[in-house]
Amino acid sequence: MMYQRWGDNRSYKTAFNAWEAYKAYKRGMTVYCNCPKTRCILNFPHEHLSPLDPSFGQIEVYNCCIVTDQTESSGLDSRTALAVRTREVGYFAGQAKKAGVEWWYDSLRHQRLDKTVRQFSDWYIHHIRYPPLMKVWYDKDGKYHDWPPAQYVKLGVIHRDSTGSPKWWTYNRPFLEKLHKLYNTEVQIRPSNQTSESINIPVLHKQLVAP
Ligand SMILES: [Zn+2]
Repeated sequence: MMYQRWGDNRSYKTAFNAWEAYKAYKRGMTVYCNCPKTRCILNFPHEHLSPLDPSFGQIEVYNCCIVTDQTESSGLDSRTALAVRTREVGYFAGQAKKAGVEWWYDSLRHQRLDKTVRQFSDWYIHHIRYPPLMKVWYDKDGKYHDWPPAQYVKLGVIHRDSTGSPKWWTYNRPFLEKLHKLYNTEVQIRPSNQTSESINIPVLHKQLVAP
């Protein structure tokens, strides 16, 4: 099964993927995640796997759980869909479901995600956080935040073939805070911090111009 989450920053997409992965881990499944080389996203045992890995499209995985955080920054941007890598991932997506793989991935914007991967998704999950992100936030006691803490998030879940409306679920602050211990909130995903194989312009420039 393939599950796609989309929604704004800080709408708990990674948190809920971490939660699903944790449940899979508890069921005895191997969990794979596209952590950057510098710091792990998940706080429980897992292996590393990113669509940016050269072997991603060819590896054979069975009965496991894959988490791909910020998918459009992880090699599945719709704007590079013709890259060999993206095609390989499309083939992988087609095979993964037959092999009992749970693949959870998220993105900020649905359309930014490679089309093949989007079309293979079984479930779409729309995350909406309340309050929405604003520039600054002051608590009632005057405490300052760079962004408002989420009071609750709503998840709209719909199947790819559904002709109805999404079913909505609400998760409140105390539950959201429990999820924090499953993952590191501040990990950032860049193509350049996931794999040494990806093109790093400053390094490439140094190699070509100033060896
Ligand atoms: Zn990791």
